[in-house]
Amino acid sequence: MADYIIVGAGPAGCVLANRLSEDPSSSVLLLEAGGKDWHPLIHMPAGFAKMTKGIASWGWSTVPQKHMKDRVFWYTQAKVVGGGSSINAQIYTRGTPATTTPGRGKKV
Ligand SMILES: Cc1cc2nc3c(=O)[nH]c(=O)nc-3n(C[C@H](O)[C@H](O)[C@H](O)COP(=O)(O)OP(=O)(O)OC[C@H]3O[C@@H](n4cnc5c(N)ncnc54)[C@H](O)[C@@H]3O)c2cc1C
Repeated sequence: MADYIIVGAGPAGCVLANRLSEDPSSSVLLLEAGGKDWHPLIHMPAGFAKMTKGIASWGWSTVPQKHMKDRVFWYTQAKVVGGGSSINAQIYTRGTPATTTPGRGKKV
């Protein structure tokens, strides 16, 4: 019986499992619904473009959007070890201090 059970091996689950398992006296069970991150597209940044079509994802789509002529959109959410970090675009967006940190970025 594990001391901790973590559901989902996305970034959050993996970081948590890593931190909790630093304590050798505790055991951690990390459960992931998807498979291993074996697909070649996962390991090349430009592979992201094809990932949005459902490789290693749950295959969800939206309900028909009535304000967009009932169009249905892919709604890609990862189902694989690594979660979204395995299928995302690896884009880093820097926050704007003026809007993210109260008091910062103000003109004095
Ligand atoms: C297509 C795409 C592109 C993205 N591009 C970027 C980007 O360029 N830059 C950026 O910063 N962020 C990007 N993101 C967002 C980023 O990947 C997510 O914010 C991040 O992965 C969220 O991590 P998480 O651990 O919270 O959840 P997730 O990554 O969603 O991980 C959740 C995991 O839990 C598993 N799971 C769910 N339910 C169960 C269950 N019942 N049992 C077992 N396992 C379960 C899932 O299979 C999944 O692996 C993108 C996301 C997607 C989907």
